[in-house]
Amino acid sequence: MTTTTSLSVRDLRVRYGGVTAVDGVNLDLPRGAVVALIGSNGAGKTSVMNAVMNLAGDSSGTRVFNGNDISKMRTDQIVGLGMALVPEGRRLFPYMTVAENLTMGAYLRRDSAAIQRDRDRVLEVFPALREKLNQPAMSLSGGQQQMVAIGRALMSSPRLLLLDEPTIGLAPAVVDLIGTTIRAINRDGVDVLLVEQNASVALDLASYAYVIDDGNVVMQGSSETLKHDNRVQAAYLGL
Ligand code: ATP
Repeated sequence: MTTTTSLSVRDLRVRYGGVTAVDGVNLDLPRGAVVALIGSNGAGKTSVMNAVMNLAGDSSGTRVFNGNDISKMRTDQIVGLGMALVPEGRRLFPYMTVAENLTMGAYLRRDSAAIQRDRDRVLEVFPALREKLNQPAMSLSGGQQQMVAIGRALMSSPRLLLLDEPTIGLAPAVVDLIGTTIRAINRDGVDVLLVEQNASVALDLASYAYVIDDGNVVMQGSSETLKHDNRVQAAYLGL
């Protein structure tokens, strides 16, 4: 494993009782990159992402993050090494305010000056949250809730951000805004692993993508190559 690799996954398998959801997935995320997992509903994308953080069912295989073998680590230890997940459906604390949700993202940190800087940066990236800081998270629109979920993850000061379906259910203008933000976060030096059913969004944001079907990687390549692949166009881009 070289230090130019952020995340490396080998022979990942995930089972839920008798169901095999992921059946031997290999993937690599180079430092500095945005990499996407695309595929249809139920293909196993969320299971891959959750297993990387040791949150999914019964998983096996090797996961190495910035040179550390995290395969058997607890999720909080993995967060401590600099990985953060924005889960599907956002999973905010609905009755807590926006400010409290953001603070929860920094729960493992003690560096209060840096926490304040990161909070300022989140509000710079998502100015719409500034006037909502004292409102309960559940009172926000879907797009604003997604901003809080991404902001909360950024409050852990991650080196790698895992984003699970960040644009699902959002209006096109908000999808564009989330996309712009993901680019900005990546430019700030955060690596990104993106799960998307919206392959068009994913291939625009990522430099490289894996196509997952029925728990396996069935295709992989640069986004440019995949965008022009007939099978990807027919199955995932609606062309
Ligand atoms: P989606 O876009 O709908 O989230 P996905 O590609 O992320 O789909 P997964 O959510 O990883 O796919 O699901 C892969 C398979 O595992 C599916 O057959 C799903 O029904 C099954 N599965 C996922 N989570 C569980 C669970 N907790 N218990 C049992 N089966 C599960």
